Amino acid sequence: MAQGILAIGELNEDSSLASVTGEVLAVARKLAGATGAQVSLVLLGKNASQRTKEAIALGADKVWVSEAEVLHENQIEAHLAALAQVCKAADPQVIVAGKSLFGRDLAPRLAFRLRVPLMQDCIDVNTDPATKRVVAVRPVYGGNANARVASPVDPQFVCVRPKIFEALPPNPSRRGEVVQAPVSVDASVVKVKRVRRVKEEATGVKLEDARVVVSVGRGIGGPENLPPFQDLAKALGAALGASRPVCDAGWLDHSFQVGLTGKTIAPEIYLTWAISGASQHLAGCSAAKNIVAVNRDPNANIFKEAKYGVVGDWKKVLPSFTATVKELVGS
Ligand SMILES: Cc1cc2nc3c(=O)[nH]c(=O)nc-3n(C[C@H](O)[C@H](O)[C@H](O)COP(=O)(O)OP(=O)(O)OC[C@H]3O[C@@H](n4cnc5c(N)ncnc54)[C@H](O)[C@@H]3O)c2cc1C
Repeated sequence: MAQGILAIGELNEDSSLASVTGEVLAVARKLAGATGAQVSLVLLGKNASQRTKEAIALGADKVWVSEAEVLHENQIEAHLAALAQVCKAADPQVIVAGKSLFGRDLAPRLAFRLRVPLMQDCIDVNTDPATKRVVAVRPVYGGNANARVASPVDPQFVCVRPKIFEALPPNPSRRGEVVQAPVSVDASVVKVKRVRRVKEEATGVKLEDARVVVSVGRGIGGPENLPPFQDLAKALGAALGASRPVCDAGWLDHSFQVGLTGKTIAPEIYLTWAISGASQHLAGCSAAKNIVAVNRDPNANIFKEAKYGVVGDWKKVLPSFTATVKELVGS
């Protein structure tokens, strides 16, 4: 009989634990709290076994690891085949994955392989006290409504939105079991070959990890107006973000996009300039602790979400705002 919760962990390129791993473990522990189920984590890839202690400290009772060479490059087909094998061996009642860049590609395919429904993009996950089954909440209609969803079959597969759930504080005294994952994947399953790796130029703070984000919308008018916002971001030690039209128009690359079809972020301060606050944009920043908005339209939707707002033309507000920031931080 299926039992326990299996969380799907991820490693960064340098084999460190990806932040989404702590988040899926926190979700798994939350679900386990209601049923007393065991929480397992699967970690696949280069040097995975060096991360097991960290994973146990973050909430895993058991870690399935495999460092098979075919899993070293994050090739989706290889990981998919390996995860299907681990799921078969672990026979979990619940699977938790993160909707990271990798996870959003992987989870639907894995669900299909397992022939189970996928509860995708969940922002809350609970256990029904009566049935002891998972009830998840996911935004629908572009974030305009939330649906409560459940799966009638095991494994109940939830894929959670990143940056919504906080990893548990690491507890180094936790003890857990480490087992070799029964993975046998032939290199021929990999149909996509990486011919070249181009590293994105790392300038400044990474959007996903930034404590402060300065984000620009279509209302800034064009790419020629970006420099003063980049200057403000630099003065604040912030990352730059953008709404979708800014990226669609090519003013900034899509890696800057915040929202439903962009990145999900949870900074301390999200400072928006000339962004209207469409639900699809808010889907990516609603976990921000403080939203600050500058918009010339007093009825702009962003003001409904903002803690602080300035109704005004950014061209008038930005110079004095940046000057004050520079004065305060002494740069
Ligand atoms: C399936 C789907 C997915 C989507 N995914 C995303 C997503 O991931 N991210 C995203 O951002 N959008 C997404 N969108 C698009 C979304 O619906 C909005 O169209 C978009 O967010 C609007 O971007 P914006 O606020 O920059 O532009 P606009 O809606 O055009 O707003 C511009 C704002 O700038 C203000 N403004 C203009 N000039 C000035 C000035 N001089 N000073 C101050 N304020 C000024 C205006 O008052 C206005 O509020 C998606 C849409 C769909 C259908």
